[in-house]
Amino acid sequence: MHAPVTQDVHTIPRKLPESGRTNLIGLTRPALRAALVEIGIPEKQAKMRTGQLWQWIYHWGVRDFAAMTNLSKDIRARLAESFTLDLPELVTRQVSEDGTRKYLVRIAGGHEVEVVYIPEEGRGTLCVSSQVGCTLTCSFCHTGTQKLVRNLTAGEIVGQVMLARDDLGEWPEPGVGTGEAGPRLLSNIVLMGMGEPLYNFENVRDAMKIAMDGEGIALGRRRITLSTSGVVPEIARTAQEIGCLLAVSFHATTDATRDILVPINKRWNIETLLAALREYPKATNSERITFEYVMLDGVNDSDADAHRLVELLEGIPAKVNLIPFNEWPGAPYKRSSNNRIRAFATILMQAGYASPIRTPRGEDIMAACGQLKSATERQRKSRAQIAAETGL
Ligand code: SAH
Ligand code: SF4
Repeated sequence: MHAPVTQDVHTIPRKLPESGRTNLIGLTRPALRAALVEIGIPEKQAKMRTGQLWQWIYHWGVRDFAAMTNLSKDIRARLAESFTLDLPELVTRQVSEDGTRKYLVRIAGGHEVEVVYIPEEGRGTLCVSSQVGCTLTCSFCHTGTQKLVRNLTAGEIVGQVMLARDDLGEWPEPGVGTGEAGPRLLSNIVLMGMGEPLYNFENVRDAMKIAMDGEGIALGRRRITLSTSGVVPEIARTAQEIGCLLAVSFHATTDATRDILVPINKRWNIETLLAALREYPKATNSERITFEYVMLDGVNDSDADAHRLVELLEGIPAKVNLIPFNEWPGAPYKRSSNNRIRAFATILMQAGYASPIRTPRGEDIMAACGQLKSATERQRKSRAQIAAETGL
């Protein structure tokens, strides 16, 4: 690990929630409409005003009601009296040698989450957090050692996307064009930051609906990938109510090993999980499911594991994403050797599965998969807390 190349400490003063004003960021279209009606916008205008406001907020990235020039002065004044347009606060931004950016973001209550932007050729992916900490306790995951503090609101989730667009300077400039031509800097979202998105379903769904809305951020549903450790009862709902791509933290080929690596397996085992996954592509008419598989030296990386994985995937449109284990202080595992990872990938490829090896990005700033954990919440869980949180 090397020292981060640059570290900016932003000194944006922390905004305290101003009493009585509702933050509009994160409201779905119907909720936004209802909020407008509540402040006296006549019903018959409400739909049009919602559309106008929506475009200002999510297409143009405007946060000042006074600048919303197609609304009358009177409406603008009323909006400013009753509402705010608040994003989470950007605390620090670190830029890795490889261009990866890691943002530390503070949300109400003073909690912090991390957000990672990964630039790629002609595109860029934002890795978004859905919870502060995680109730689950996957034994190889740094976030898993942090207590769950709380679920993020929809506004805090879509707010991460908006903050990143602010930082990348990616909002179109009014009067200059819509900004839709050419490749986007932030073209994809992965729900692979801190937390289990399916344990915060409604907020994740509402935030992603906003990100997908064609009159705003307008990322297609195939540009969003939700990663779950395997919350089986919410998988069908994800297909119906979000319709994005799905990734699953699979990581083992026997229940005995998966029980240790991904303890939610004790509640929904491999067979139950695979049954739910078989239905997903049919329900969304979508592409393959991504099976994430962390390569842990001597734990889950044998040829026998690779062959078993091929058998388990039978009948599921799948690709396997092999993730070299990213170490963190005190981690109980080692990364598999490059030769081992390649041998494992070869077995999968010979069986017809695309199995890219995920290149760790932003390791010098601890931004790689599974390394996220906010500095203020470094408290380690006790066994009793783990038992209380998970019921496992
Ligand atoms: N909670 C969700 C999403 C966040 S984790 C889930 O578990 O799917 C994103 C991916 O990184 C998951 O596949 C996770 O298992 C993996 N991961 C966690 N810790 C890791 C580590 N130390 N090294 C490599 N991958 C890790
Ligand atoms: Fe939570 Fe995912 Fe980490 Fe497991 S891998 S502890 S589900 S964040």
